[in-house]
Amino acid sequence: MNQFELFPETVRTCPVCGRNEPNDYVFQINHRLLEDGTCTAQRAVLAHIAYYRRQGDEEKAQELFPRAKSLNVKEYQ
Ligand SMILES: [Zn+2]
Repeated sequence: MNQFELFPETVRTCPVCGRNEPNDYVFQINHRLLEDGTCTAQRAVLAHIAYYRRQGDEEKAQELFPRAKSLNVKEYQ
């Protein structure tokens, strides 16, 4: 059993990235629609990848690629 099975009536799915969140509170924090058509979860993972690249840590950046892909970030499909 996972968190989505406990209270399935509260699950919210982001129309941008497709991720499920267990309730509206978590959804509103993580998936605000941005002016460029992305959501805040997508922007956050891109910002983290850019941060690690600026630090010269390509290995850490690449560790985030699966998360970017799971959030349907265009550049990582
Ligand atoms: Zn989203």
